[in-house]
Amino acid sequence: MHTITLIPGDGIGPEISEAMRRVVESTGVKIDWDVQEAGADAMEKYGTPLPEQVLDSIRKNKIAIKGPVTTPIGSGFRSVNVALRKELDLYVNLRPCYSLKGVKSRYEDIDLVIVRENTEDLYAGIEFEEGSKEAKELIDFLKARGAKIRFEDAGISIKPISITGSERIVRFAYEYARREGRKKVTAVHKANIMKHSDGLFLRVANEVGAKYPDIETEDRIVDNMCMQLVQKPELYDVLVCPNLYGDILSDLCSGLIGGLGMAPSANIGEEHAVFESVHGSAPKYAGQNKVNPSALILSSVLMLHHIGEREAADKVFTATRDVVAEGKHVTYDLGGTAGTSQMADAILNKILS
Ligand code: NAD
Repeated sequence: MHTITLIPGDGIGPEISEAMRRVVESTGVKIDWDVQEAGADAMEKYGTPLPEQVLDSIRKNKIAIKGPVTTPIGSGFRSVNVALRKELDLYVNLRPCYSLKGVKSRYEDIDLVIVRENTEDLYAGIEFEEGSKEAKELIDFLKARGAKIRFEDAGISIKPISITGSERIVRFAYEYARREGRKKVTAVHKANIMKHSDGLFLRVANEVGAKYPDIETEDRIVDNMCMQLVQKPELYDVLVCPNLYGDILSDLCSGLIGGLGMAPSANIGEEHAVFESVHGSAPKYAGQNKVNPSALILSSVLMLHHIGEREAADKVFTATRDVVAEGKHVTYDLGGTAGTSQMADAILNKILS
């Protein structure tokens, strides 16, 4: 029996979470779901979108799967997703991108995995507002050390990339490649321009890569990487990226496979892992039994793999793939008329048959 924290989230979150839960349970795998509220409803009830008991539950259970959570713009409402990554030090964002028959896309046979660093880089949250006392002090400090600041009315974001942070993400990428029978890891960077941050990342990537002679190691400058992914995606396998490039390339790769409705992800740390769809809470569709549950169902495949339930993972993946390929019981975004729960029924009926 596994105990897993389930965060339904808000917007379309509860519907797709229920669909995912029914599909996972149909495999026969024994899971005790510890259901926890986060997001808009939790904000109303507890005065915070991420109550402490949610974090306690994940700390105890180690594994969580969550539906999307709305982050209202400009409300001062802290992003639950960013908070979870920070509080639990979930330093890996894993996003497999693969073509599935039945999903409209310009490409076929895409099979890429993005391993994105989740804690450092320009996303570290170290920022100084233009005109603030701190920005001015920082500019004075930098100028005193010979930095050429062209205009003093600059806002500043800091880009920390460490040896420790780079080593652990690159090591994860190689371990993942080895475990999943992948052939090559490509490190993505802009080391020619940012020598002390991306240059460090590249150096560490090469050092770690040398310890895995069974896996091919290469690197690409991020702009060239974008062009190559559009022109020759079949040349790539696992991409390991600092935070910002990983964010951008993940969406580029979601585009290669036909959009967000099918894109799963995992946030993984040394001790904890949180699985979720790449898409958000699509509030305009909330409560309508309309959206595609596949992204969260495919996230549960990653979760089942992670907890060692490979057979159940394979069952869920194969059934989802087949339902999508047949195209009979699929949601509007895949050209069908089925609702969220009907598509889930079709998947679980395949598992049970
Ligand atoms: P979104 O992904 O929620 O929706 C964009 C559009 O994509 C939708 O209008 C819909 O047309 C389509 N779509 C999304 N999911 C779908 C599905 N499962 N099936 C079919 N169509 C689907 O993006 P958004 O509108 O930019 O964000 C809405 C909210 O979600 C925001 O508050 C944002 O902060 C939040 N968000 C949360 C997460 C998360 O919890 N991990 C991730 C991204 C965005």
